[in-house]
Amino acid sequence: METFEELELKEEVLKALKDLGFEKPTPIQAKTIPHLLTSENDLVALAQTGTGKTAAFSLPIINQVDSNAKNVQAFILSPTRELCLQIAEDIKDFTKYSKKIKTTAVYGGANIDSQIRQLKAGSHIVVGTPGRVCDLIRRKRLDLSHIQWVILDEADEMLSMGFKDELDFILEQTPQEKQTLLFSATMPKDIARIAKKYMNTPEEIAVGEKNSGAKNVSHVYYLVQSRDKYQALKRIADINPNIYSIVFCRTRRETKEIADKLITDGYNADALHGDLSQAQRDVVMHRLRSKHLQILVATDVAARGIDVDDLTHVINYSLPDQMEAYIHRSGRTGRAGKKGTSIAIIHSREKNRIRILEKKIGKSFEKGEVPNGKEICNIRLMNIIDNLQNVEVDEKNMEEFMPAIYEKLDNISKEDIIKNFVAVEFNRILRYYRNAPDLNLATSKDQRQKRRGEIEYTRFHINLGSKTNLNPQRLMGLINEHPSIRKIAIGQIEIFKKFSFFDTDSEYKEKIIQALNGSDFEGITIAVEPVKSPPKTSDKKYHKKRRGSGSQRASKGRERNSRDKFKKKPRNRY
Ligand code: AMP
Repeated sequence: METFEELELKEEVLKALKDLGFEKPTPIQAKTIPHLLTSENDLVALAQTGTGKTAAFSLPIINQVDSNAKNVQAFILSPTRELCLQIAEDIKDFTKYSKKIKTTAVYGGANIDSQIRQLKAGSHIVVGTPGRVCDLIRRKRLDLSHIQWVILDEADEMLSMGFKDELDFILEQTPQEKQTLLFSATMPKDIARIAKKYMNTPEEIAVGEKNSGAKNVSHVYYLVQSRDKYQALKRIADINPNIYSIVFCRTRRETKEIADKLITDGYNADALHGDLSQAQRDVVMHRLRSKHLQILVATDVAARGIDVDDLTHVINYSLPDQMEAYIHRSGRTGRAGKKGTSIAIIHSREKNRIRILEKKIGKSFEKGEVPNGKEICNIRLMNIIDNLQNVEVDEKNMEEFMPAIYEKLDNISKEDIIKNFVAVEFNRILRYYRNAPDLNLATSKDQRQKRRGEIEYTRFHINLGSKTNLNPQRLMGLINEHPSIRKIAIGQIEIFKKFSFFDTDSEYKEKIIQALNGSDFEGITIAVEPVKSPPKTSDKKYHKKRRGSGSQRASKGRERNSRDKFKKKPRNRY
């Protein structure tokens, strides 16, 4: 189906679609609209959010509603207030030129009396959330006994939110003779059961694969230590200066904590969780929708029903307990034909969960490398330059200030002005990422490589030994304390009485010197230096030279003892 005209929708509906800029039906619309216009059979439609399903069920209903009748003819049940409001808004847009069709949204957390008044005034289409709908039915303010269409939107969400009893109650109030449509992103067993219990041999249509992730979404995971997850999140945000994202956390506490940290660290972030009042939630959602908020940190429950277009990333700060939830999370990006990325920040024990998810969504995850400081600085710098190039200059209003500005900058060269302007924006990030450690956790493949001895080691001499309480564990602890060298491979360690040797990955030679030299170990100022060629510990000439002063000389026998005791096989430290 190429155009909406071919679907034989009424002129006033086509006009509204034109105003909205809808040129041709999305796949779910091309399948659902003809079905609803020509058949009375029930329908189960498997579609993600963002595929255009609101128009898919609304347009054929709007086309067929009898606006002269007074009763409710179509009833749409939505799991959340946000989705309910959004559906009602969309329907109002679609009925822009069908003025006689009245739509009412009924949802919790808002004054019930005004909703009752609207219902009393007459509504052809009612969109509601389960709790409020049950309440209105019990108060005899909402009569569903004559409806022609029931739409269960995001039915899987409805069940996972525990609305099974409400669903049963509501559906019992509807007449036998009606057309039921069930929309769901996934097809868990419970949905199949609902379809069997309440629907009349429904036809089934699917857009994309059953239980699959959205087509336009690519999936990436970053493997880091648990304690580095927040740093990794920041780097992901930093390397994407125009990020527009929802970060999913598992608990309210985690949500608050991560949002607070991001705000403190200067990010444009906010939190959405169950402890917020409805008014607070509305403020946050308004900021997100109007793109005044870049990063929303949310729990699954709080983010239900949030359908915001153009999100660039969905970030799983913590993977959800239920794999189904991952599909919902990732479906919030890549909407309306746009590309999106769903990111999972995981630690090593969660790698098997990625494999399970891959099976579930039928797509592979790409392993992402957490960007290093230099990469981030490059991207941010270029972003600043782009902004500088593309900024709209308000010539008229700036005119009066310019002479004073030119006068002040008169003595500075063009190059210096550019440098200073960039530095104003860039210094913070440059300072932050100087010496930033690598956060990527080695995979077992990397580890195997290291075990196979594919690392080139540099041997260091350190002015600490067993007499100054150094042992291999403490030496490793000493290295671990420094973020810039925390995860590097350590080879052989030899502890002598007054000095020691250790081998580390040559790549980190300079960083070892920078990090350890001059730092303190129990009151002793540490001095490390690379040893030119790794000496054999029996190299008498070398040791004689190194031992130098009499006070440093140790008994050969004892040196050997300690050497044997602490000699360690090369190992890697991941
Ligand atoms: P939905 O899945 O109904 O939430 O729709 C997702 C987004 O796609 C919304 O912003 C709709 O306005 C938009 N949309 C729906 N159908 C079309 C269409 N045929 N052409 C262009 N945009 C559409």
